[in-house]
Amino acid sequence: MIVGERKSVTEILEMTKGYDRIFVAGCGTCVTVCLAGGEKEVSVLSSLLKINGKKQGHEVKVVEGTIERQCEREWVGEMKDKVRDAEAVLSMACGIGVQLVAEMYPEKPVLPALNTTLMGFPTQHAIWLENCRACGDCILHLTGGICPVTRCAKQLMNGPCGGSQNGKCEVDSQTDCAWALIYYKLKAMDRLDWMSKIQPPKRWDIAGHSGPRKTVKEEEVVP
Ligand code: SF4
Ligand code: SF4
Repeated sequence: MIVGERKSVTEILEMTKGYDRIFVAGCGTCVTVCLAGGEKEVSVLSSLLKINGKKQGHEVKVVEGTIERQCEREWVGEMKDKVRDAEAVLSMACGIGVQLVAEMYPEKPVLPALNTTLMGFPTQHAIWLENCRACGDCILHLTGGICPVTRCAKQLMNGPCGGSQNGKCEVDSQTDCAWALIYYKLKAMDRLDWMSKIQPPKRWDIAGHSGPRKTVKEEEVVP
């Protein structure tokens, strides 16, 4: 899932300064699960904006609303009344949701309340580990389901680099060496022979390093 974390209160108050009618928009999918932008977080942030308004000596009218997904037009369309009545939308979605709301309501300022940090899964409650960077050419079938693009600090396709110590990465001793993990996983699968297969250079051109990418499912496109 996509993981985000709320921006600092100082930053949020700075970006909302001057707006007295704010729609705080939550998203019910990834950012709800990662405890950053669901109903509960919307409620906390709304209270904070109101309290700050009072402290500044004026009333800030805050409307709350959490839709299923801010990354789909159908759901974002349902926000139209709340968006219309607000001076600004403070979106608690990931950057994708913020951009879709901004595109669909071009006359409104749409402000990001979160920093979108990574795609990953939780390793324990409230801790998420990045494990995919959407490189566009997945090789997990060759690496025992462990992603070197994301989890090797040098993004080596043919690791390890030789600096790994006791299973930890030489770049960060707190982090597992991805290639050590791959080695042990392949060993457990009795497929260590895969380690000696040379992987070709990574196609960084399709990994998003040269502008935005597009996925098209031709058979489903309505002309
Ligand atoms: S190889 Fe690419 S697509 Fe597969 S998990 Fe890694 S970054 Fe994601
Ligand atoms: S120690 Fe392992 S994870 Fe770190 S850069 Fe080298 S191969 Fe990659």
